Amino acid sequence: MTTKQNVVRTRFAPSPTGFLHLGGARTALFSWAFARHHGGTFILRIEDTDLERSTPEAVQAILDGMEWLGLTPDEGPFYQMQRMDRYREVIQRMLQEGTAYYCYCTPDEVEAMREKARAAGLKPRYDGTWRPEPGKTLPDIPAGRKPVVRFRNPQDGVTAWNDMVKGPIAIDNSELDDLIIARPDGTPTYNFCVVVDDWDMRITHVIRGDDHVNNTPRQINILRALGADLPVYGHVPMILGPDGEKLSKRHGAVSVMEYDKAGYLPEAMVNYLARLGWSHGNDEIFSREQLVEWFDTRNLSKSAAQWDPKKLNWVNAHYIKHSTDTDLAARVAHRVAELGGDPQATDLPAVMALLKDRAETLNELAEGALLFCAPFTPADPELLAEYVDEDARVLLADFAAQARELADWTAEAIDALIKSLLAKHGVKMPKLGIPLRLVVTGRRQTPSIGAVLAILGRERVLERLG
Ligand code: GLU
Repeated sequence: MTTKQNVVRTRFAPSPTGFLHLGGARTALFSWAFARHHGGTFILRIEDTDLERSTPEAVQAILDGMEWLGLTPDEGPFYQMQRMDRYREVIQRMLQEGTAYYCYCTPDEVEAMREKARAAGLKPRYDGTWRPEPGKTLPDIPAGRKPVVRFRNPQDGVTAWNDMVKGPIAIDNSELDDLIIARPDGTPTYNFCVVVDDWDMRITHVIRGDDHVNNTPRQINILRALGADLPVYGHVPMILGPDGEKLSKRHGAVSVMEYDKAGYLPEAMVNYLARLGWSHGNDEIFSREQLVEWFDTRNLSKSAAQWDPKKLNWVNAHYIKHSTDTDLAARVAHRVAELGGDPQATDLPAVMALLKDRAETLNELAEGALLFCAPFTPADPELLAEYVDEDARVLLADFAAQARELADWTAEAIDALIKSLLAKHGVKMPKLGIPLRLVVTGRRQTPSIGAVLAILGRERVLERLG
């Protein structure tokens, strides 16, 4: 016997448009978390009926994005293009049952009807010419014309639902046209496919962007006409850019996978996306398991969330700081190689330990790692001339001599050596620190010098000191 606990079925139903965008990823995350919270089923459905945009690459981009975020569907992916026979079957059934009808008006005729209504100060709409009514005689079928199929929408009453996010919503049925559900060539239209899929897939909760609110009463009416159980709907507000406009490419990267490329951790992305429009008290950092445990649609926000790149960086920095050195090294190695470094040429986990407290992205870690594993570029001769004077050379020579003899080549031992040299020669840190950095690393600034030299290795340090 099934309990109420495990009958929850949610779906993410993206239209493949070339990539998985942040808004879609967040909707997917909420649907996934809701299903997981209730021990239910999360379904992936690809709405690929727009043949111009739906390329295999665009579908793959969505699958990649979902996989990267760890949003594994329990069922699917299902493809609408593979379900055409089923949609046609349902259309036939509706025609037979009288909940749908053929309409032979041309698009121009429908436009003229709309124009006429507008001119009369009414809402532009299809005038019901072909809508069958008891006792009504329909016009003669124009020869050779292919009809569309329209849904016979109820004309009276209201269609209402209690939205999980927005609360009660009611639309007068008189506001809704008799929607076209099949085109003259027989292909089903968008809202119709969604309805048949939600029905067939036994979806219990639809969580989606609030750009779909207008579709909902139409979908509910068709579901009712089919005798289907209605899912519960929740419409999540849009994500806005930092300027308050709808988040778009103008605001920077909107494709999830671009964040992978830019060095964000999927865990950080999931955490940050979940907080965009959902909250659990004041918690900012939480694991995937906590999200699942805490996820409740009552805590979804009614108002639009704003994309905040600084906060995302803060969250990412947190996850970097709390990752293990070996895990970071594994994630950073290919980035080092892409930048021209050789990740094998150094102790990458040790480099991560040195850098991870200050890095906001994996790419920053990779750039920082180049100091230890990219071909050495000596400092600018002018800088060398400025800082490596006669006194500095004496200091460096003494450093090299004692470094050769150090029992342990560790950050602590090197720091202690530097300290003793400063005391011996009666100079302050910059006097030795800057020339040492310039000669050994080619840079004026580096992380803690003892740690840097320890990772570089005694051999390389002595070789560069000459
Ligand atoms: N395919 C639609 C979109 O990508 C979503 C449809 C739905 O969730 O009902 O916006």
